[in-house]
Amino acid sequence: MPELPDLEIMREVLERRLLGRTIITAQVLRPTVLRVLQPERTPADYLQGAVFTSFGRRGKLLLLGLGERGWCAVHLMLWGRLRLCQAKEPPRVRDYLSLKLDDGLALRYNDQHGMGKIYLTTDLHAIPGWDDTGPEPLSDDFVLGGFCQGIRAQGRAIKMVLKSGALVAGIGNAYADEILWTAHIYPFRKASELTPEECCALYDAIRSVLGEAIAVLREHVGDDIELEWREHLKIHRHGGQPCPRCGHILSQDEIDKHITSYCRRCQPGSLIRGEARRSL
Ligand SMILES: [Zn+2]
Repeated sequence: MPELPDLEIMREVLERRLLGRTIITAQVLRPTVLRVLQPERTPADYLQGAVFTSFGRRGKLLLLGLGERGWCAVHLMLWGRLRLCQAKEPPRVRDYLSLKLDDGLALRYNDQHGMGKIYLTTDLHAIPGWDDTGPEPLSDDFVLGGFCQGIRAQGRAIKMVLKSGALVAGIGNAYADEILWTAHIYPFRKASELTPEECCALYDAIRSVLGEAIAVLREHVGDDIELEWREHLKIHRHGGQPCPRCGHILSQDEIDKHITSYCRRCQPGSLIRGEARRSL
């Protein structure tokens, strides 16, 4: 699933390529991922003839600004992908939306399993979960004191807390593993039992891991926003390989199809019982 660094690169590319461009034709190929949040309006009211005025990101949502018409907010989930192509190219089988632009290009949304969401709205607060999203980790809104306080109030496993987005936005399964390894914290630790020092280490790891990943992706992904670059990950899905820090063989658990990779030597801890672990 695309996470904060992936989405940030997509945002940069879209801004560079599409800012100021006009949507000549908006074609809904499959309507099921579309969510029109003002029921009196149609997709064409938002998209047809609209100009891209801004490209933002909030958590795992890409925000395509359409001026006074509102926003097209894209949540790619696991399988959704945006791509830029020539408008004359025929759509692919699982393309859901095609926006033909005034420079001969098209922006298309493809989703192998139709799990993503495209919200069309004049009010970002109308998007489900918008008001529950925590601060952006690379912004000044992400404050150590508030983060530590939030952690201490959580009875769930720390990995689940990171992924939930309520205390910090944009982190998913892969980067949660990378961050916890960097901070030497066992992913199944009960969040409320982390020491102040561990909370600080986690805070620092969140910022450094995500910041460094953006720099790496910027170098490797280029303008290919369909590409999901994962070569730089050190831990996630590396179970059975030696830990890059201590050489111990990395562990890997799969719970509800979600993989957690970690080093038992660098990230010591014992399993916690019950819900916290099962909820990962
Ligand atoms: Zn290790």
